[in-house]
Amino acid sequence: MPERLVIIGGDAAGMSAATNARRSRPAADLEIVAFERSDWISFSACGEPYYVSGDVSPIEALLVRSVEEFAKSSITVHKRHEVIAIDTAARAVTVRDHLGAREFTVGYDHLVYATGASARRLPIEGVDLFGVHEMHVLDDALAVRRLVEQRPRRAVIVGGGFVGVEMAEAFLANGIETTVIAAGDTLLEGAFDPDFAARITAAVRGLGVRVETGHRVECLHGEGGRVTSVGCGDRAIPADLVVLAAGTVPNVALARAAGLRIGESGGVWVDDHLRTSLPGVWAAGDCAETTHCLTGRPLNLHLGTIANKQGRIVGLNVGGADEVFPGVLGTAITKCMDLEMARTGLTEAEARDAGFDAIAVTFEATTAAGYWPAARPMWVKAVADRSTRRILGAQILGGATAGKRIDALAMAIWNEMTVDALLNVDLSYTPTLSGVWDPVLTAGRVLQSALGPATTPSR
Ligand SMILES: Cc1cc2nc3c(=O)[nH]c(=O)nc-3n(C[C@H](O)[C@H](O)[C@H](O)COP(=O)(O)OP(=O)(O)OC[C@H]3O[C@@H](n4cnc5c(N)ncnc54)[C@H](O)[C@@H]3O)c2cc1C
Repeated sequence: MPERLVIIGGDAAGMSAATNARRSRPAADLEIVAFERSDWISFSACGEPYYVSGDVSPIEALLVRSVEEFAKSSITVHKRHEVIAIDTAARAVTVRDHLGAREFTVGYDHLVYATGASARRLPIEGVDLFGVHEMHVLDDALAVRRLVEQRPRRAVIVGGGFVGVEMAEAFLANGIETTVIAAGDTLLEGAFDPDFAARITAAVRGLGVRVETGHRVECLHGEGGRVTSVGCGDRAIPADLVVLAAGTVPNVALARAAGLRIGESGGVWVDDHLRTSLPGVWAAGDCAETTHCLTGRPLNLHLGTIANKQGRIVGLNVGGADEVFPGVLGTAITKCMDLEMARTGLTEAEARDAGFDAIAVTFEATTAAGYWPAARPMWVKAVADRSTRRILGAQILGGATAGKRIDALAMAIWNEMTVDALLNVDLSYTPTLSGVWDPVLTAGRVLQSALGPATTPSR
């Protein structure tokens, strides 16, 4: 008899686990069954803003693999099947089949909890009005695109995080007057230091987006069942279309009810192999807790990068491997029109809070040699630890090609490089793509000037 792997959640983490488990163990040895409560499996939520903008079409372009393709690898996926209970003592899950309106129980030897996260529901009046949508699953993207095709005049995005910024691009690109309402003092608050986030906010305003900061949305007003404005304090901001993008929360209710330990971050607690607190149960993706590589602190980040890597490790471990998930640096990137924003490691505030003797520098550079006509300005904030001279974090804002430089800085942090070592790395150069001192190297130089010369040889 083969063992059975049951997966709850048919997207990035769950289906990566399925695929990698199958690579390690043939169907005769391991049966794999995944349950997904929605109509969609293995899709790119990250591409949704670009479906709404009209850059990507049809919606099927965002699908990675179909049920039929998984079946070819002997992975059975049931759509519209929701797992409603986990009995860890009996090693079985109860499934509600929304298609056949029935419930049944399935036993497991291994269970992967990969339920993801959901959009944070705003407890305000008016969220059910026509023209109001969250932006989380493909159905949201379909609905918002349909509204965009009706050529609304004014869109309001509630939430100034990564999704809010990307939706601003989608609406601007369609000639819609766009307002982003952020509860904090800036866009992308928390992900960037306040000074850098203020720079980002000014740059996004420069693109023509109205950014209203420091506002809590209290209600949505409508007429004839259709949204007309967003109420904040004594103001009503006119809107024909509203996107609610006020963050996401991990889907842990089912795990909690089953007795799985929930971590400090709010995600399902896992060890370094992504085992949960109960035998035979693994967790991966947005619903799971992870650890920051620099601080060792638990955190729950909702990023496709992490979900795919964790899913892979769970799959390999179910397949018999001994893989460890090393933690994260919180590397993230987004863009609004030609403006790119990226971050990795610790902000200055996070570094201080974690007890580092942090030093931070901010400098302006260009994306290519200054004389190259297409060169665009960019700004880099880099953070290091005074005592070890190690790079701790970086933030980037700038024109096209600026943002992905964050990956070189993430690699430096990942490999525990000092600022002195960073500035000597043999990076590439041609005037149309960078200055002879790429901004990544300049980060090392500027930090070294701020710290003073090293007393020991660089590494
Ligand atoms: C608009 C948008 C843009 C994004 N852009 C980026 C980006 O640029 N870069 C990046 O790194 N990340 C991005 N993300 C985040 C990324 O999409 C998520 O981190 C990733 O999808 C998480 O994968 P997951 O498998 O953990 O969870 P999900 O993708 O949420 O999948 C979990 C699945 O489990 C299902 N499920 C939940 N409970 C049950 C149950 N009880 N029974 C059965 N099924 C269940 C859900 O229906 C869902 O399909 C974006 C997200 C959004 C919404």
